[in-house]
Amino acid sequence: MRLNPESRRLFLQRSAALLGGASLAGCATAPSQPAKAQVLVVGGGFGGATAAKYLRFLSDGRVGVTLVEPSSAFVSCPMSNLVLEGEKQIIDLTHGYGGLEALGVKRLQTRVSRIDAIGKRAQLADGSWLLYDKLLLSPGIDFNWNAIAGLQAANKAGQVLQAWKAGPETTALRAQLEAMPDGGVYAISIPEAPYRCPPGPYERASLVASYFKRVKPKSKVLILDANPDITSKAGLFRKVWAEHYPGMVEYRPQHKVLAVDGAKRTLKFELQEDLRADVLNVLPPMQAGELATANGLATVNARWCGVDYLNFASTQHKDIHVIGDAIQIAPLMPKSAHMASSHAKVAAAQIVAELLGLPLNPAPMLTNTCYSLVSRNLAIHVASVHAYDAADKTYKTVPGSGGVSSQANEIEAAYAQHWAKTIWADSLN
Ligand SMILES: Cc1cc2nc3c(=O)[nH]c(=O)nc-3n(C[C@H](O)[C@H](O)[C@H](O)COP(=O)(O)OP(=O)(O)OC[C@H]3O[C@@H](n4cnc5c(N)ncnc54)[C@H](O)[C@@H]3O)c2cc1C
Repeated sequence: MRLNPESRRLFLQRSAALLGGASLAGCATAPSQPAKAQVLVVGGGFGGATAAKYLRFLSDGRVGVTLVEPSSAFVSCPMSNLVLEGEKQIIDLTHGYGGLEALGVKRLQTRVSRIDAIGKRAQLADGSWLLYDKLLLSPGIDFNWNAIAGLQAANKAGQVLQAWKAGPETTALRAQLEAMPDGGVYAISIPEAPYRCPPGPYERASLVASYFKRVKPKSKVLILDANPDITSKAGLFRKVWAEHYPGMVEYRPQHKVLAVDGAKRTLKFELQEDLRADVLNVLPPMQAGELATANGLATVNARWCGVDYLNFASTQHKDIHVIGDAIQIAPLMPKSAHMASSHAKVAAAQIVAELLGLPLNPAPMLTNTCYSLVSRNLAIHVASVHAYDAADKTYKTVPGSGGVSSQANEIEAAYAQHWAKTIWADSLN
């Protein structure tokens, strides 16, 4: 198992404390077999799965970890745009939870429906309650369907898909693209930032264009963006569209969708004329997963969870930690799988330290790399390093760290595939 530097520091610090005879917090008076502290992890996506693993690993099995996740398997959003391209299938992105179970994580395939923060317990879908010492939530995002009139009905009818949670909708959107005649129009509508995966919609537009270029060259990709400009890797995406998909990809900024007519495949905007497309892919505005919003944890604009960035404790309850897409981001912190995994490692290390009576790491760091495939064999990337600033209680990007591709290239397409395999293994095994 590989360790990042801060995990290694904590691991060594913990080992030294134990070898030096330090007693475990809360266990000093127990004569033998002190009860294990219990961490309940909710959500087995990138943040939750990684946290469950690192809680077991960094505590050397001294912390009990239960993972609650309704899905029987983990389905990766990263690489799911390649399903729309036709290069991958959903099964290629689907992984079991056996690796976590082998590490001693107890898995419950159900949902948490309610949190009792005072009683330190969480209620499961069957009505039973689980007690915890620490609760770690990584519930991802949910959609604000009400922001766009007619969208939820059109989605339920299968007419207008989002496919922003990888799974059956991804496959259904691929089927719509396959059924679309050559010469048709695919339109993707992007909500105002912040939303899950800033470069994801532009990657999707590029990969749909890659499919059209091979199979339906008279077709068109329309990007209707509620934002004033491309929100990530703007210059690189523009160059890709001009060089690889001229006349096929069209980008229109400041197109905020207000209503959808699923039967007529039509969008209504705040300012512009109505627009019809053969395949409509509308990404609704997003917010923290429903569990967080329904339990009073979404303290920022009632959308995102405010946290203490030192240990990802909720600003509402010190024993509830929130990570991943659900949190209010620090400046320049993307809502990405890589970032959720980074949050998970910091939060796991700090929770283990707290439960074992060790000092918290005062200077945690986070990293992020986002690859975007722009065809089957070309990719671009952006990377950054974020350091905790104790004075301002936030993360700031480290000057001179990170970087961005100079142009789309083949070697980064190979790196992107390896990045995915590595992060899946790091989260689940
Ligand atoms: C098309 C697309 C492409 C992307 N590409 C990339 C990429 O290349 N690189 C990258 O870094 N990121 C990428 N992302 C972003 C990435 O998928 C997310 O940022 C990441 O999944 C966030 O992790 P999370 O743990 O916060 O949420 P998730 O991974 O969504 O996990 C949330 C989990 O919580 C569970 N859950 C929710 N509510 C409950 C409840 N009440 N009880 C129990 N369980 C619950 C859900 O079932 C889910 O499994 C992409 C996203 C999309 C849509």
